[in-house]
Amino acid sequence: MSTKRCFVTAAGQGIGRAIAIGLSEAGHQVVATDRDEELLQSLTAEHGIETAALDVTNTAAIATFAEQLGNTDTLVHCAGFVHHGTVLDVSDDDYDFSFDLNVRPAFRLSQAVLPGMIERKSGSLIFISSVASSLKGVPNRAAYGSTKAALIGLSKSIAADFVRDGVRSNCICPGTVETPSLGQRIEDAGPDVEKQRQAFIDRQPMGRLGQPAEIAGLAVYLAGDNAEFMTGQAIALDGGFTI
Ligand code: NAD
Repeated sequence: MSTKRCFVTAAGQGIGRAIAIGLSEAGHQVVATDRDEELLQSLTAEHGIETAALDVTNTAAIATFAEQLGNTDTLVHCAGFVHHGTVLDVSDDDYDFSFDLNVRPAFRLSQAVLPGMIERKSGSLIFISSVASSLKGVPNRAAYGSTKAALIGLSKSIAADFVRDGVRSNCICPGTVETPSLGQRIEDAGPDVEKQRQAFIDRQPMGRLGQPAEIAGLAVYLAGDNAEFMTGQAIALDGGFTI
């Protein structure tokens, strides 16, 4: 297995953190970034992972960062925000914010890393989408589902454009995964926290939530040499949500 230089956004907690740790444990060299510097500290202290503060909605910061980044073999774009509501509940600002965080950084970071990947004839792009996307209509996810479907469209177009250049691009589409943001959404949803938590579990046909490490396992596969025949895919990893 060859060692890859991997760049991960939103690695401070949840799925991004598990992916950074998974890639590092698989022997890859990881640069883990997040808006929240404090969350990154334990990645360095406990796992020896290189970290840097990066707010992916800051276009200038992305441009500066991209210049300093050096060669990247694997880009993992994980940052994302769940807006709750139907299309009737989404303001223009909500819709813009969802695209600015969930989609535009994937587009900008792809522009930053692709030229080097094409030159070296090797690269893997991994976007964290969701089952709530073009895979499935999920209630109250109008803005979120739009952005996660857009990520799949972007990923497939990159896969098609650079399929002969050694570049692969795939999306991971998780079902409901036990992360701090899910915990927050459960708390925000109403007074009966246990009932809200059970509602999230009940929508999973397997009757359980996914774990961040389970999502990380697929990211490690997609980054590695064994996945060299896989590109342009939107892979559901969802406890049966899309059966
Ligand atoms: P999380 O809230 O647990 O972690 C999100 C991280 O993103 C935090 O560390 C936060 O500091 C960081 N972040 C927020 N805004 C940022 C910004 N502007 N720039 C850089 N970092 C920023 O989230 P999670 O549940 O692990 O979700 C990660 C991704 O997985 C998201 O894209 C989400 O849509 C997707 N996803 C999650 C689930 C789920 O059930 N948890 C399901 C499907 C898809």
